[in-house]
Amino acid sequence: MAENTFFSKIIQREIPADIVFQDERVTAFRDINPQAPTHILIVPNKVIPTVNDVSPDDENTLGHLFIVAKKLAEDEGIAEHGYRLLINCGAHGNQEVFHLHMHLVGGKPLGRMLSRNVREE
Ligand code: AMP
Repeated sequence: MAENTFFSKIIQREIPADIVFQDERVTAFRDINPQAPTHILIVPNKVIPTVNDVSPDDENTLGHLFIVAKKLAEDEGIAEHGYRLLINCGAHGNQEVFHLHMHLVGGKPLGRMLSRNVREE
């Protein structure tokens, strides 16, 4: 079980969060600063700091993130119209919390993936 990140404390229910799903491998909770009507973070219970730290042992857990994302999209009623799954990595990826997590974002048209100014920089 995770023990030493901010998200670990949410996973272990030491810090309050709006948890929408939890099992032995992952925990999902609503983002505190939602960018769309649905914005959920799906987090491995095990601390993996970034995608750069992923190992072959993590393959089942990381695949499970997609199974949970699909279920939550259905639960949220956004599966039919589509949504975005996003994992930030490191400084250029603008990762803020170094406990790997997948963003599930949807509930409105999201536009292009990168804003014009980022694409042109
Ligand atoms: P990232 O930039 O991919 O590391 O995303 C970190 C996300 O965590 C941001 O979207 C934050 O809004 C979100 N976040 C930070 N603190 C909390 C919290 N206590 N509960 C829920 N979401 C949080």
